[in-house]
Amino acid sequence: AEVKSRLPVLDVVGETVQLKKAGTTYKGLCPFHGEKTPSFIVTPGRESWHCFGCGEGGDIFSFVMRRDGVAFPEALRLLAARAGVEIDERTTREDARRKRLHEVVESAISFYHAVLTKSPTGERALAYLHDRGFSDETIEWANLGWAPPDWDALGRTLEKRRRMTMAEPVEVGLATPRKGGNGAYDRF
Ligand code: ZN
Repeated sequence: AEVKSRLPVLDVVGETVQLKKAGTTYKGLCPFHGEKTPSFIVTPGRESWHCFGCGEGGDIFSFVMRRDGVAFPEALRLLAARAGVEIDERTTREDARRKRLHEVVESAISFYHAVLTKSPTGERALAYLHDRGFSDETIEWANLGWAPPDWDALGRTLEKRRRMTMAEPVEVGLATPRKGGNGAYDRF
């Protein structure tokens, strides 16, 4: 958002495309498809661009991505450098890591919940909960789960079905590493 606020779409697009004012918008020849009459519109009020010929459109980031054939991180880096905005790469990496660990926890919740509600292993625990007055709606709402009597069921399942490494459940505290060997023991 900071990069966007510092770089007007008119300037960024205007570097590549010759634009002519037309009312509140600007018109030019689309750089992304061959054309002789301009159907490429830049709207400064919305900080956006759109081509009525080929349907492409977006903001300064998508413009640079399309123009230079790069992915978002690269376009962001390029425009941030121009805007004089410093990007903390660690933040990006840390965010990705946190998101991943969140996925590990969510997957673990789904796994234990499925064991409780959909497997023979969880039948007794489920019957117990029903006896105690838990309705299926409550069990569903609270995402209750049951850990099967196994050393590494969670780790193996996440590895096999979710392509997670054995180290990831360890990282979120759901497993402990096996001493001097491969793999990990589930905590539950
Ligand atoms: Zn176009």
